[in-house]
Amino acid sequence: MKFRNFKMVDYVVYGRGSFNQLDEILAPHRKNNAPMIFLLDHFFENKPLASRIPLRGNDKLIFANVNKEPKTTYVDRISQDLKNEFGNISGVIGIGGGSVMDLAKAVSLMMNNPGSSADYQGWDLVKNAGVYKVGIPTLSGTGAEVSRTTVLTGPTKKLGMNSDFTPFSQIVLDPELTENAPVNQRFYTGMDCYIHCIESLTGTYLNEFSKSYGEKALQLCQKVFVQKENWDEESDDALMMASYAGGMSIAYSQVGIAHAVSYGLSYLLGTKHGIGNCIVFDKLEEYYADGVDEFKKMVEKNKIEIPQHITKGLSDEQFDTMINVSLGMKPLWENALGKDWEKIMTREKLRKLYEKL
Ligand code: NAD
Ligand code: ZN
Repeated sequence: MKFRNFKMVDYVVYGRGSFNQLDEILAPHRKNNAPMIFLLDHFFENKPLASRIPLRGNDKLIFANVNKEPKTTYVDRISQDLKNEFGNISGVIGIGGGSVMDLAKAVSLMMNNPGSSADYQGWDLVKNAGVYKVGIPTLSGTGAEVSRTTVLTGPTKKLGMNSDFTPFSQIVLDPELTENAPVNQRFYTGMDCYIHCIESLTGTYLNEFSKSYGEKALQLCQKVFVQKENWDEESDDALMMASYAGGMSIAYSQVGIAHAVSYGLSYLLGTKHGIGNCIVFDKLEEYYADGVDEFKKMVEKNKIEIPQHITKGLSDEQFDTMINVSLGMKPLWENALGKDWEKIMTREKLRKLYEKL
């Protein structure tokens, strides 16, 4: 048995209004004339948050387009442009949902590593530490703020740059920034956290470390999506900490079936992570009976629609592509179903599951 020795985020600040401390936090990390690069979720273009970015000297603000989840080509383009324009930069600050945070981590790494980000999709392939990087979530749920990966869609696979160089140097957890997220988006991303908890807590990789964070995160999700009558400040505060704890839980265990199956949807159809997980989890009563039951109640209470029949009319070849992507996620299946998972989740069984979505 080899125990994971995992690298955590270096610094964490939490609290309403903590975003205002950003200028002060960045100051000691500014090097000569090398700028700080702010990647801001394009949702905030022309919104008040854009004018609160503490730009100094030749700092640059880039609005990151996340209509699609980040691709290796997008990471490569941004980092190459920055190398051409500035040579060196002091750091990258990603402000947005999981997509922008992942983009910021990947750009930071690619500033100091040769080639394409696609070369580093996998485990521990990154050679050099990236530049200073800061993550500031504006949606709560993915846990991307604490994870050691950055999920990218590349030419041949959807896989993260998993490495000890990947976690942020600093995160700023300011629940005010999630305040105006649309109800549906907030739910889909929040359910990513709920599903992390269920998959971690029912998995075979579970241990006391993961359990302590997973149980807390689950409790916070239940508070905001099941118990509370209305969404308020306390809900944003709680969900932000749920996301953090949920991320810590899976850092020392693993996710499971909803994630393995939704990766296939995302690869073939471009279905986004949060909503994709919801579409799959909705049909997993055979594996996560209690969680799926509670999930359905949350969907109803929060008046959310989960898309149905999204795989209708796909060809055999397309089903095969999804099945291949999904079965490639071996640790996820092993965590969910144990060492003999291949005997349980056959291609035929997985095909039937995909047909239900
Ligand atoms: P997202 O980042 O994809 O954003 C979804 C949409 O919400 C976008 O249109 C965005 O512009 C918008 N948005 C962001 N903040 C908003 C706000 N405050 N108000 C209104 N709109 C806002 O969504 P997400 O669910 O946070 O992240 C999903 C991404 O995270 C995927 O790319 C997935 O692969 C990645 N992910 C990464 C990890 C990890 O460990 N690195 C874990 C889970 C998911
Ligand atoms: Zn997830």
